[in-house]
Order: sequence, then structure tokens, then C-alpha cells
Amino acid sequence: MSWCVMRVTPPPAANGILTPRATLLTSARWDIGVIRVAFLPGHGSPALRDRIKGYAQLWHGADNVGVEFRFQEQIDDTVHVRVALGGTGDWSELGRHARNNRNLALPTMNLKLTERTTAKKVMRSVLHEFGHALGLVHEHQIPGEPIQWDREAVIADLRAAGWSVSEIEAQVLAPYTADESNTGTFDPNSIMLYPIKRSWTLNGFHVDWNRTLSDQDKARIAELY
Ligand SMILES: [Zn+2]
Repeated sequence: MSWCVMRVTPPPAANGILTPRATLLTSARWDIGVIRVAFLPGHGSPALRDRIKGYAQLWHGADNVGVEFRFQEQIDDTVHVRVALGGTGDWSELGRHARNNRNLALPTMNLKLTERTTAKKVMRSVLHEFGHALGLVHEHQIPGEPIQWDREAVIADLRAAGWSVSEIEAQVLAPYTADESNTGTFDPNSIMLYPIKRSWTLNGFHVDWNRTLSDQDKARIAELY
């Protein structure tokens, strides 16, 4: 089950202030217009890097978005998002919390992608994780989300997939409150939604993989930036 590889990593524990529950859109929004991105040395062929760059930049394809991902070769302290490829799963620091991760040898985002990964998996992973890099939280956790979770079913499935209960709470079940985020109304087409099985919910809610930016995803970023 590959829905289990997406996560928002918390800032370093040593920070002591921010936890996954505190990594919220309102505190994750960048205060700059150009987010510099670089791949860790040796990660990805030029062709794979180009594919990733192309999908990431779809986030600011519209004229009215005041932020952009600018890719560069050199890893130095001007880089905001450091991308590793391969590894154990897809994850990203949330928005400007990436600044908490200052070790230039370490990624702020991992994409479990290779040259052989299918185009639709590359697109989904890149759009979702770069959404996190812009500060977006999971859509299934925003205030007012309509999902009535069957908590036991979710926990049983995800524990079988290797997650801890605290990870399941942080990534799936625990909703943000209205004053923690300002993400607007729930969007069932958002790229920031996990696929949700019917057996995970008590009210029939279910959704397959969303693989493209929804109109509301685009509108949300234009509004934020
Ligand atoms: Zn995610």
C-alpha cells in the first residue's frame, strides 16, 4: 500500500517548540517570493530532475501566483529546499519550517522516485510534496473536513503498514483547528488529500488518488502568495 509513504516531517526535535501538530499552514507560509531548490549531489539523472522540476513549477503556473520554485545546481545556504531522491518514502518539511533543517548534507524533502517510476506516480508525488513545501497541510485534516473516520479501521491498516499510532494521528486523523490554519473549505479533489478507502470511514466518504492540482489548489496558492 503506497499511501503510507507520505508524511510531513517535524522540525528537529531539538527545536523544542514545533511539533507535527504545530506545523501549520499559518506558520509555514514563506515570507519570500523565490524558493530556491536544489537536488542533493548525485541524486537523480538530469532527465528525472527535469521531470520533477516541471511538475513542481505547475504550482505557480498561473500569472497571479507571487511565489516560485527556482532550481539551482549548487547546494549552499541560499537553498531553501534540498531534495533527495530514492530512499524510504515521500516526505517534506512543511513550508518555511524547512529553515529549521540547516544541515546542508541532509534533505528537507525526499521523493522515492527513480528513472523507472511511472509518470503518474512522479506527478502525484512531486505535486503533493511541493504542496507541503509551500506550507499546505493534508486536506483530510483541515477544519470542517467532512470525513467521519472509522478510527480502528484506519489504525489497524496503517499499523500493519508500519506506522505508529502517533504518526497515524499526526498525518491522518487529527484535524487542525480553525485558528491554526486558513485553508478554506474542504476540496475532495485536492492534491493534498490522501487516498481514503471506504472501509476507513463511517459516512461512505472515500477518494482515490488525486494526481493533478485542483482548481482550488491553484486558487489557494494564488490567495496565499
Ligand atoms: Zn503529505
